[in-house]
Amino acid sequence: MARIAVGGFQHETNTFAPQQATWADFERADAWPPLLRGPELIGGVEGFNIPIAGAVQRLRELGHELVPLAWAAAPPASYVTEDAYERMWTLFDSDLRAHGPFDAIYLDLHGAMVAEHTQDGEGELLRRIRAIVGEELPIVASLDYHANLTPDMAGLATALVGYRTYPHVDMAATGRRAAELLDQLLKERRPVHRAYRQLDFLIPLVWQCTFIEPAKSIFDLVGELEAGEKSHNQGIVSVTHTPGFPPADIAQCGPALVVYGHDKEAVEAAADRLAQAVKAQEAAFAGEMFDPDAAALRALELARTASKPVVLADVQDNPGAGGTSDTVGLLSALMRHKAKGAVIGMIVDEAAAQAAVETGEGNIMRRGIGAAVGYAGETPVVADWRVVKLGDGIFTGTGPFYGGARFQIGPMALVTDEASGVSVVLACRRVQAADQEMFRHVGVEPSTVPILALKSTVHFRADFQPIAETILVVRSPGAHITDPLEMPYKHLRKGIRLKPMGPVWEGA
Ligand SMILES: [Zn+2]
Repeated sequence: MARIAVGGFQHETNTFAPQQATWADFERADAWPPLLRGPELIGGVEGFNIPIAGAVQRLRELGHELVPLAWAAAPPASYVTEDAYERMWTLFDSDLRAHGPFDAIYLDLHGAMVAEHTQDGEGELLRRIRAIVGEELPIVASLDYHANLTPDMAGLATALVGYRTYPHVDMAATGRRAAELLDQLLKERRPVHRAYRQLDFLIPLVWQCTFIEPAKSIFDLVGELEAGEKSHNQGIVSVTHTPGFPPADIAQCGPALVVYGHDKEAVEAAADRLAQAVKAQEAAFAGEMFDPDAAALRALELARTASKPVVLADVQDNPGAGGTSDTVGLLSALMRHKAKGAVIGMIVDEAAAQAAVETGEGNIMRRGIGAAVGYAGETPVVADWRVVKLGDGIFTGTGPFYGGARFQIGPMALVTDEASGVSVVLACRRVQAADQEMFRHVGVEPSTVPILALKSTVHFRADFQPIAETILVVRSPGAHITDPLEMPYKHLRKGIRLKPMGPVWEGA
């Protein structure tokens, strides 16, 4: 039995997004738990599909004594404020000093955190922790699929373990894998060789999905390299590939991979083979996108003969990637083309949601909806909105991505435009439209809707692809710019290509 400290600090930072991540965003609950510290951490994360929940459960099963530090996450947004970062660090700093010594540390990190005062949020956190616990203590961290895995992170952690799915249906499972690796490292006490590689082109999120090629085959290979080599006892203990988070204006933005094991040659060979496999697929990271009007018209045409919903993915206004989840480009197009019965969710507009509560079910409110932040100069959509159903925003997720999540996202409402028959699901806090319960909570059974528009890039596929006739990818206004050529980068490293088969970045 070992004494293992566990904690986490998660943020996915889109440096081009309009809203920063503040301390209040880390403190409060949304789709994920609020700030947790000490003994309350264990029960607070239980049942969620998040890495620390899986790690805690597995480490306990393995008989270890856990020392809970602090854990917090905020919805994807722009830079983590220096204030928020330093407040979180204060908790880690005092808990590490007060509750040590430890035999090991497990950390639940994202890998794409950028703070106002550091480009590498996780690398800086690991550097500070090392300064307290020393160079030798085993530190294993789990990482999001979208980590921009930096050389510092790879160098400072004993081992890093990433998700293998996008939609991320394996978040808790990744925490379990990290726990098992930590347990193995503690038992074996052998030196671990690390092979780290960065790839030289950015991959837009929308083409990173592991439900489709080429990511599907690449991640099959990740699993094979780890399992195959393990079974042949060739000394590989862990293989991680992170396709990266392009909307991050930092030098170490982009895909990377890291392989660990006891046999240096096998580890290096596996890293090279995986890097080659990703490079060989470069041209395959591509697909078709529709502008909002074309998407609305195509959806109407398809819906005439479809037996299941035509799903429109509003991929650029994904709050799970820093979008405001309130842009109205696609909503306006659906209304313009009178897409009767279409439902779009979720539009995050606290004032409109509160107004719906005041208006009451069955009544009509004439007001603007959406564009609360005003991204890209948009203005709210004014119409006669009938308040069809209200909800308190407290419910539990049931899909493969958000299953077990205890949502607390403020008052919600289903409102319908009297003229076009288009409906909107309103909410108060930003969470990605990736679980059918978000719609059922306000009386919509998603499988019966002819056209369903979702503010999500890829995660929606976990729960909605099985009920969809087809999925159209829409390029409507939003802060998660899909085409890296449109992002005003200043800090990328020279020589990286801005997208698959795209031009080399030559500097700002
Ligand atoms: Zn992710």
